[in-house]
Amino acid sequence: MSEHKVSVIRGDGVGVEVIEEGIKVLTAVGEQYDVTWNFIEHPWNSDYYFEHGRMMPTDALDQMAESDVIYLGAVGHPDLQDHVTLNGLLLPIRRTFDQYVCERPSVLYPGITSPLRDPKPYDIDMLVIRENTEGEYAEVGGFQYAGFEEEIGIQSGVFTRRGCERIITYAFEQARRHDRRKHVTSITKSNALGYGMLVWDRAFDRVAEGYPDIETNSLLIDAACMDFVRRPESFDVVVGSNLFGDILTDIGAIITGSMGLAPSGNIDPERRFPSMFEPVHGSAPDIMGKGIANPMAAVLSASMMLRHLGHDDAADVVDKAVIFLIGQGEILTPDLGGTSSTSQVGDAIINALGKG
Ligand code: ATP
Ligand code: MG
Repeated sequence: MSEHKVSVIRGDGVGVEVIEEGIKVLTAVGEQYDVTWNFIEHPWNSDYYFEHGRMMPTDALDQMAESDVIYLGAVGHPDLQDHVTLNGLLLPIRRTFDQYVCERPSVLYPGITSPLRDPKPYDIDMLVIRENTEGEYAEVGGFQYAGFEEEIGIQSGVFTRRGCERIITYAFEQARRHDRRKHVTSITKSNALGYGMLVWDRAFDRVAEGYPDIETNSLLIDAACMDFVRRPESFDVVVGSNLFGDILTDIGAIITGSMGLAPSGNIDPERRFPSMFEPVHGSAPDIMGKGIANPMAAVLSASMMLRHLGHDDAADVVDKAVIFLIGQGEILTPDLGGTSSTSQVGDAIINALGKG
């Protein structure tokens, strides 16, 4: 038997609704695989901000540091600027716990209609690895004023050799660990961004030398965006900077069917700190409170969490249940063309555990 302490931040909007289902599924699969969960709920979200003037209390990170993992829904509110939720909650967690890997699989499951022209199931099956702690989102820069309405914004990126090498190494390790992954694509823009991106390119070449069994190529971000649409089957493991990974994972999510299907992990591979698992989507204010949010992204994120904690068998069972349900095509939320509710889909996933 094993027991895990999980910090739960349901957050805002549909985040609250989908995490409910994720916890139901984790509890059910835990009973089957002798895993006990100690869920610690943290009420940190936009309401907390409106009441306290901050997204989380000053000792929030200390509170979470003792947990094995963090399970997050989404934070965001129409009346709050994104940078408040980002700088007040997400970024401090990612940076303090050195979750330098953001891992986002993009898989086209049987039964899903892609907006692309007739790709076959599993034609799209890639793992996008995004650098999560530096790069373009390092918040280096400032404003200068040269007179009325003559403001100048300076935004710099930070690319350390160590930061680039460790994320690229993680990508190669994923390619080596998974039998069906044999290729790593580096995303760059060193033709125009001739400092930071050159450090990235050099780091990639150096790391690649250590993995002669893995094929590699390097693509400019613009060409990569095009190929994500034109020939997504050509990608396997893709590694990119903070900004480029951000852009590509949204394309990856939409070509595989729905924002409601895309899971992610913010990972500290060295396991010094808790890693955090969350659906890629946000709080989706347009559909919140209607009970129609797709919980599958949150459930697949829970499965990534199970894998991180060493419960590969349990994770496989959860993945298969979700894939089975999608293939069956009966109990689905409206984003996938169904009429079922969030909790009906959650229940159906639990009923499908062991199937598929
Ligand atoms: P935030 O500011 O919190 O990031 P957002 O406005 O960027 O929110 P998202 O939450 O990322 O929006 O949603 C983008 C679109 O995808 C919306 O139309 C939303 O309804 C849809 N969507 C997001 N999550 C889901 C889900 N779980 N199920 C169904 N549709 C979803
Ligand atoms: Mg968003």
